[in-house]
Amino acid sequence: NGKLYLCATPIGNLEDITLRTLRQLQSVDLIAAEDTRVSKKLLLHFGIQVPVTSYYEHNKREKGNYLLEKLKNGMQIAVITDAGMPGISDPGEDLVRLCAREQIPVEVLPGPCAFATALVGSGLPTGRFAFEGFLTVNKKNRMEHLNSLKTDTRTLIFYEAPHKLLTTLRDMYMVFGNRRLTLARELTKRFEEYRRTDLSDAITYYETNPPKGEFVLVLAGADPKEVHQLSIADLPSAEELIRKYAAEGMR
Ligand code: SAM
Repeated sequence: NGKLYLCATPIGNLEDITLRTLRQLQSVDLIAAEDTRVSKKLLLHFGIQVPVTSYYEHNKREKGNYLLEKLKNGMQIAVITDAGMPGISDPGEDLVRLCAREQIPVEVLPGPCAFATALVGSGLPTGRFAFEGFLTVNKKNRMEHLNSLKTDTRTLIFYEAPHKLLTTLRDMYMVFGNRRLTLARELTKRFEEYRRTDLSDAITYYETNPPKGEFVLVLAGADPKEVHQLSIADLPSAEELIRKYAAEGMR
C-alpha cells in the first residue's frame, strides 16, 4: 500500500537530520522535493540514491495529482522541502489534504522547524503564540493582517526575507507602536544570532546595517492591561447605552 512521508530536513546544520528521516528517505520509491537542486545536495551528502521529482508552489496542482496516482498504485513517497518541516510556509499541506481525501496513509517525520527554534530562543513567552508566516507584499493586505493582530496577547511569529525586513519592521511599528522583538537570524548556522531588542531599535540598527541571511521575527504580544483598557474604552458608555435603549423603547 502506498504511503506519504513528510520528512523534516535541516534548516542549516546538516547534523540536525534525524536517523529516522535518513532511514525513511533511503527506503522510499520516490522523493518529491521543492527545489531538486537543493535537495540533491542534501541527498548526495548522506549517500541517498532515490529518484527525485520536483513538487513546489507552481506545479503542486498537476504534480499533486500525479503523486496521488503513484500513491494509489502502492508507491512509498517522501516529501521534503529546501529546509525544515514541509507544510510550514512550504509545500506539503495540499498533498496531505489529497491523501486524507483518498484515505492514503500519511506519516510525518518531525525535525527542525525555524519558527519553533526561534520561539524557544527568543526569551519571549512560549506558552501561547501565533505563527503568522510571511506577510503578503500587498500593502493593504499586510496592514489589515497586522491590524487584526493588534490586540492579540500571544507572542507573534513571522518569517521574512532580508530585503523586506526593514519595510516589515516599519509596518509593524506603525500598527503596534514599540514592542519587544527578537530577531532570530541564520539559526543553526555558523553566524546564528538572536537580537533581543525592540521594534524601534531594530529599525535604527538595520537602517545602518543592511540585513543579511534568514530571519524569524518573534514579536511580543499586546500587553493584556492595555488590551483590557482598549476594550473598556471601546465599549459604549452607560449614557450611550441608556440613550440607545430609550430610542428602542427600552425593550
Ligand atoms: N519549512 C520551513 C520551516 O520549517 O521553518 C520554513 C520555510 S520558509 C519558505 C523559509 C523561511 O523560514 C525563511 O525566509 C526564514 O524566515 C525562515 N528560516 C528558515 N531557515 C532559517 C534559519 N536557519 N534561520 C532563520 N530563519 C530561517
